[in-house]
Amino acid sequence: MEKKKIPAIFKEDLQNFLQSVNELDKIEQSERFCLLCSKLISLKNIQLIIPRKGDSYDYVCDSPTCVEEYNHNQ
Ligand SMILES: [Zn+2]
Repeated sequence: MEKKKIPAIFKEDLQNFLQSVNELDKIEQSERFCLLCSKLISLKNIQLIIPRKGDSYDYVCDSPTCVEEYNHNQ
């Protein structure tokens, strides 16, 4: 199996990471959506966190289709 190029953030660290970048509140308030399918992002379905310019982040949900599509577009 080919290795993914995107660094994974372990689930245990996810909450701490999101807190540190001030994104945890946004996710808990249902204000973040999957970049590909626009599904609501929650702590349970985050697959990828993609840093953007400035202080914002994009998210990809745990749908295999979304992850694959994102990797293809890189
Ligand atoms: Zn998605």
